Amino acid sequence: MTRATEIHLVRRPRGEPVDDDFRAVQVELDDPGPGQVLVRNVVMSVDPYMRVRMAAVLPGYPSWDLDAPMDGSAVGVVLASAAEAFPVGTVVSHRYGWRDHALVPAGGLRRIVPDPSIPLTAHLDVLGMTGLTAFVGLRDVARIRPGEDVWISGAAGAVGAAAGQIARLLGAGRIVGSAGSAAKVRQLVDELGYDAGFDYHVPDLPAALAAAAPTGIDVYFDNVGDDHLEAALGSIRAHGRIVVCGAINQYNALGERPGPRNLIAILTQRLRVEGFTVREHLAAYDGFVAQASDWLRQGSLVSTVTVVDGLDRAVHAFREMLRGANRGKMIVRISDDPAPTGSAG
Ligand code: NDP
Repeated sequence: MTRATEIHLVRRPRGEPVDDDFRAVQVELDDPGPGQVLVRNVVMSVDPYMRVRMAAVLPGYPSWDLDAPMDGSAVGVVLASAAEAFPVGTVVSHRYGWRDHALVPAGGLRRIVPDPSIPLTAHLDVLGMTGLTAFVGLRDVARIRPGEDVWISGAAGAVGAAAGQIARLLGAGRIVGSAGSAAKVRQLVDELGYDAGFDYHVPDLPAALAAAAPTGIDVYFDNVGDDHLEAALGSIRAHGRIVVCGAINQYNALGERPGPRNLIAILTQRLRVEGFTVREHLAAYDGFVAQASDWLRQGSLVSTVTVVDGLDRAVHAFREMLRGANRGKMIVRISDDPAPTGSAG
C-alpha cells in the first residue's frame, strides 16, 4: 500500500476558480496489479482546457466528475511494476496528474528516454502536448506555406512560445505575437524569435494588430477568441486560414461573451476557419518528438517554463496561469527528478 495525495474537484467554479472549489484528499493505493505500475509523479501540467473540464458539459467536451481526482499530463518515475515493459526506475509520461503517486495501466504510459541535455519539464512543454499542439496547428491545420505572415495570440504562454519558434522553423514570413504585458512582448521579440509584438490591453486591438502587421496576415493562430478573432478577421488576406486552438477569453464565462461582429469576412475573404484538439493528432507525436528533440539540441527551439513547487500549490499555479502569471509553460514540481541512473530514487 502507498499513501497518496490527490487533488479533487469538489464544486464547479463560477467565474474564476477559488480554493474552495478543490480539496486535497489522502488515499491508499494498492500495490500494482497485473499490467499496472506505481508512479511517483515528478512534474505535472496545469492547462487552460482544465477550466473547461471543470464546467458543465459542452458538446464533445466532457466535464470532470465532482469528488474525484482531476487528470492531466504528468511525468514521473516507476516505483513498483507489474508490467514487464516498464521496470522500476523507468521515466514515464501519462495522464494521471493532480496527484503525487498514481497507479497507471501500462497502456496509459509513454517511456521517456532521459537525456541530460533536455530537462524533464520539456516533456510537458515543447516535447509534450504543448509542442505538438503548436506544430500540428501550424503544419496540418493552417498548412502554413513558406513566407506566409502569421499572428499568434497568447504568444508568451506555452503554446504561443512554441508556435512562434515553430512557425519560424516551418519557414513563415512575418511572425507577430500578442501577450498581456510589455515585458512579455519584449520577450517575444528578444527571446522567442517573433518579428513584432503588442500588448492586447489597448483600446483599439485592430489598430495594434495593423501596426504590427501593416500588410495583413495569412494565418491567425487563435488562443484567445472574441475580440482577438474579430481583429484577425479584419486583417486577414484572401484565402487565409484561422486556426482555432483555444478561446481562453471565454473559459471563466462560457456562453456569456459576444462573438466577433465581422464573421462575414469568412465569406468575403474566402477563409478556412478550423478548430482542432491535439488529442486527434497523436499519430504525429513520435515523428514530432524526434524532430523537436533535434531542434532543442541544436538550440533552434527553446523550452520556456515557469515552475511552482509543491502539489499543495497546484491549484494556485492553475489559477495564476489563467491570470497570466506564467512565461511559457506553467508546471508544478511535485517531487525531485529521479537519479540520473534511472533508479527509483
Ligand atoms: P498559456 O501558457 O498560454 O497560459 C494561458 C495564458 O493565457 C496566460 O498566461 C495569459 O497570458 C493568457 N490569457 C488569460 N486570459 C486571457 C484573456 N482574457 N485574453 C488573452 N489572453 C489571456 O496556456 P497554453 O499555452 O497551455 O494554452 C493556450 C491556448 O491554447 C488556450 O486557449 C488553450 O485552451 C489552448 N490549447 C488548445 C489545445 C488544443 O488541442 N486545441 C491544446 C493546448 C492548449 P497573458 O499575460 O498574455 O494574458
